[in-house]
Amino acid sequence: MSHVVIVGAGPAGASLGYLLSRRGIEVTLLERRRDFAREFRGEVLLPGGITALEQMGLKTQLAALPSYAPQTLEIFLNGIPLLSESLNTDSGEEALFKAVSQPALLEMLVAESTNSSSFNLIRGASVKELLRHDGRVAGVRIRVDDAEQELQANLVVGADGRNSVVRKQAGLLAGNATLPMDIVWCKLPCPENWRGVRAYAGRGHLLIAYHTWDDTLQLGWVILKGTFGDLRNRGIEQWVEEMANHVSADFAEHLRTHRDAVQKPFLLNVVADCVDRWSTPGALVIGDAAHTMSPVGGQGINIALRDAIVAANHLVPALAVPEPDGNTLTAALAAIEAERMPEIQEIQTLQAQPPKLLLSNAWWGEPVRRIAAMLLSRPAIRQRAAGRVSAFLYGVTEVQLEV
Ligand SMILES: Cc1cc2nc3c(=O)[nH]c(=O)nc-3n(C[C@H](O)[C@H](O)[C@H](O)COP(=O)(O)OP(=O)(O)OC[C@H]3O[C@@H](n4cnc5c(N)ncnc54)[C@H](O)[C@@H]3O)c2cc1C
Repeated sequence: MSHVVIVGAGPAGASLGYLLSRRGIEVTLLERRRDFAREFRGEVLLPGGITALEQMGLKTQLAALPSYAPQTLEIFLNGIPLLSESLNTDSGEEALFKAVSQPALLEMLVAESTNSSSFNLIRGASVKELLRHDGRVAGVRIRVDDAEQELQANLVVGADGRNSVVRKQAGLLAGNATLPMDIVWCKLPCPENWRGVRAYAGRGHLLIAYHTWDDTLQLGWVILKGTFGDLRNRGIEQWVEEMANHVSADFAEHLRTHRDAVQKPFLLNVVADCVDRWSTPGALVIGDAAHTMSPVGGQGINIALRDAIVAANHLVPALAVPEPDGNTLTAALAAIEAERMPEIQEIQTLQAQPPKLLLSNAWWGEPVRRIAAMLLSRPAIRQRAAGRVSAFLYGVTEVQLEV
């Protein structure tokens, strides 16, 4: 039987490990961390990601995770309300937006995988190098507890995120679309009646605040790239004051009252890229390792889960055989890339547009933002904008688990 080594137990690697091992394929999932309780990472699940988990048979398990489904989306321009939409679906049964604890999600995925005897998770295992045999990737060299060892595999899947070692070692190259922003993430106590998501745009800033899974308020403050050093030097008080100057009066008061309670400020260096090729014989990259997603539209986890489904659809037939054939496997890897690329390209193109408009400090920035706001009040334009939002919510292509 085939042996697949998956590097990285983020949403992409943990879900692919679950899917392959459930079909009897030997999986070794390698995670360099000992636990998943790590710094703040993406925690937004949209219908595309929720459906992906449901297709995996994990609906009940997902419902049991710590989560919060915000009910409204309000958009403000220069502190003034511009738009207010319900986030409840017509049926009221499905959430359009769910904030889910990512550590809990990952622990659930690996716990479910351990029901398969063909699944093995090694925590604290850091991949250092790819091994090669006859021109193919044939395994990995790992370091666990200061000792190195080698693992042989029919396939190595790099699901090791934005700084992927597998991507580098396999020689997979990415073009980098520079985005003009970074994001400061932090948490605050949640105002009592805050049930939704608010986005405050204008004057070179974008601030997003939502009620999250641990009943705190998660803040993402989008700033111009390279300005965090200056912000940090000015200290947290000044920093919160700056945010308060960009929001509505009620929220400004909340920010000022709770400025000493800011938790876990963290800078996310925003990167967006995509490798030219997702595979080389014997190795494949998926998730952020293949295409690091900008945080615009909360796409990262959703896309990673959808990658895992498409990868499983093609890998199971190629690998669930006694003697896997190298050429069949190589064709399966190419098919995964071909199926996923259209969605990634379209989503990344859509993601690149709002920051350019919202953050521009050029003389034309403010007038253009005002015109955009005015246009958004017209039904035909809102319908067109809704089409773009729909790509973020549901994805662009049909993704259906078939194995
Ligand atoms: C601070 C932050 C905030 C974010 N906010 C959002 C957001 O609001 N919305 C959104 O949609 N997305 C967000 N993202 C992105 C989102 O988290 C990712 O797109 C998503 O997690 C990608 O999943 P993945 O499985 O491909 O990679 P990752 O989640 O990055 O998982 C990769 C895993 O590989 C492991 N690993 C790395 N190198 C090695 C190695 N050499 N050996 C073994 N293991 C290794 C890592 O420890 C990690 O567990 C954010 C990311 C960060 C960093």
